[in-house]
Amino acid sequence: MYEHDVLVVGAGGAGLRAAIAAHEAGADTAIVSKLHPVRSHTGAAEGGINAALQEGDDWELHAYDTMKGSDYLADAPAVETLAQDAPEDTMRLEHWGMPFSREEDGRVSQRPFGGLSYPRTTYAGAETGHHLLHTMYEQVVKRGIQVYDEWYVMNLATTDEADPNDRQCEGIVAYDVQTGKVEGFKANQGVILATGGPGQAFDHTTNAVSCTGDGHAMAYRAGAPLEDMEFIQFHPTSLPSTGVLISEGVRGEGGILYNNDGERFMFEYGYANNSGELASRDVVARAELDEVAEGRGVEDEYVHLDMRHLGEDRILDRLENILHLAEDFEGVDGLVEPMPVKPGQHYAMGGIEVDENGQTCIDGLYAAGECACVSVHGGNRLGGNALPELIVFGKRAGAHAAGDDLGEPEIRTGYGDDVEDDDTELPVAPGASGLDSADAVADGGVAAETGALEQAVERERARVDRLMDKDSGVQHAEIRAKLQNAMTDYVNVFRNEEGIEKALEIIRECREEYQDVYVDDPSTTFNTDLQQTIETRNLIDVAETIALGALVRNEFRGAHWRQENQVRDDENWLKHTLVSWDDGEPSIFYRPVILEGEEKTYEPKVRSY
Ligand SMILES: Cc1cc2nc3c(=O)[nH]c(=O)nc-3n(C[C@H](O)[C@H](O)[C@H](O)COP(=O)(O)OP(=O)(O)OC[C@H]3O[C@@H](n4cnc5c(N)ncnc54)[C@H](O)[C@@H]3O)c2cc1C
Repeated sequence: MYEHDVLVVGAGGAGLRAAIAAHEAGADTAIVSKLHPVRSHTGAAEGGINAALQEGDDWELHAYDTMKGSDYLADAPAVETLAQDAPEDTMRLEHWGMPFSREEDGRVSQRPFGGLSYPRTTYAGAETGHHLLHTMYEQVVKRGIQVYDEWYVMNLATTDEADPNDRQCEGIVAYDVQTGKVEGFKANQGVILATGGPGQAFDHTTNAVSCTGDGHAMAYRAGAPLEDMEFIQFHPTSLPSTGVLISEGVRGEGGILYNNDGERFMFEYGYANNSGELASRDVVARAELDEVAEGRGVEDEYVHLDMRHLGEDRILDRLENILHLAEDFEGVDGLVEPMPVKPGQHYAMGGIEVDENGQTCIDGLYAAGECACVSVHGGNRLGGNALPELIVFGKRAGAHAAGDDLGEPEIRTGYGDDVEDDDTELPVAPGASGLDSADAVADGGVAAETGALEQAVERERARVDRLMDKDSGVQHAEIRAKLQNAMTDYVNVFRNEEGIEKALEIIRECREEYQDVYVDDPSTTFNTDLQQTIETRNLIDVAETIALGALVRNEFRGAHWRQENQVRDDENWLKHTLVSWDDGEPSIFYRPVILEGEEKTYEPKVRSY
């Protein structure tokens, strides 16, 4: 058994920042991560960090752009905190040694990004995330913060009161990838989940194989609701064959999108008459798919992104990485030919419901970064707004878990008197089935009189034994591929009721098949088969919440388009969707959006670019 004051699960941008803050607040802090910190997915971030740094820009403009970009589904207190804290927190990175790109006069460079009214995106070439990780990891090492890397966190240890709002998180259970040991980690003050996104729920994604929604699933099964899961961002410029991202920085620097007829379709067909290629991501992604549907796509599949006119010097200075990606993954030389691009799953706007201090409704359980929903992105995230979220809310979660007083939050969490229940009839029974149920894996003689952590360790050891002892059945990869294809086929950019119901049926089948899952690799060292089998279980839970949210929200807002109701319905839908795991079954409820900021209310307007 290991013991620390604050345990941070995940060592990406959010986890590293949370750990530094918790350590600075005086807590004995440790990071537990399935990857080495600098291999975390934050390292793939290319474009930059939004922060109002320059004269002429200010945090209020940043907040306004973010509320508009969110299609008025973000909570104003969170958005204003993001916009107010981003400049100082970005400059702190600079003081820690982050090598931001600079102008001739030495000032930090900023570039335009989609949906921004000012060039506010601060960057380090096209490798911003890589430098962000290295800069913060140096600070972690400098402070002597303990890192348990290559430890896979399997579950949380929480008490089991009937109402999740009364539960307490006591620690985590983790699997040592190098030795196969399952151990408990006690957290005296708090556990912070910073486990990143669930992109692997989809087939075509810009996310790494490590993005499996583990934190989402663990928090969900412990009783913390998942919020606005239906809002998935599809990035307009991923490479068709692999899903690898071509940064929005290309369009920020002046890159142009063309259809197969050589037309600059964003303007030609009126998708975004003012901002063109730099309209918000949801707008550009839909435009590209419309072009393909109208028969103007290249090879009936994608469109072209052209940066040749920017010139070799500028491309090499600011976008060199893009040249390598296009060459390595698509065999295209971006200096002499346009690059093929199409929409790919990229980001989850929703996540574990938290307040401005990163706290969930479960005492001692926090979440930050992409796995959390505070909510600053609402229905659609603006490019460059995820990285500031990591550093602003990672910092706040770390400080609060370590005991700093950050004031009373305005955002409420958990089931309460301000929520509205959902009464949609579901086409298939969602939720646990048989051995797939989190409780069923506990049927291994767990002593009831021991504490929550000891019980959780026993349960997870029993789960590993059960998976390893079975010598035939279905392999997880088969189930995962079926799930990913269903999500990409039916819960993609364009959605309708029939398709989403089909996805829910397939998810149900995946659950049933998972009861017969087995691990083929018998080894106790670096058993990726075992780890991925557990991750697949998490993906099933997370995919189901995405599909459920998409089914009940019958309106078109931000990244969520519904064929049956192609308008934003503010009268009925200015509310967050919450899905919570209630005795093995998802239950759905809603909480109103907070549009009142410190000094003004963000009245919903038509969102045009
Ligand atoms: C290709 C790409 C480019 C992007 N570019 C930008 C950009 O330019 N600007 C911007 O603002 N946003 C960008 N984004 C979004 C942004 O990069 C991500 O949202 C963000 O980096 C996520 O950071 P994180 O700390 O939440 O998670 P991650 O960086 O994914 O880290 C997750 C951590 O959790 C650990 N972990 C996960 N599960 C477990 C488990 N079960 N046990 C133990 N550890 C676990 C992992 O090891 C990892 O350390 C981009 C996203 C992608 C995919």
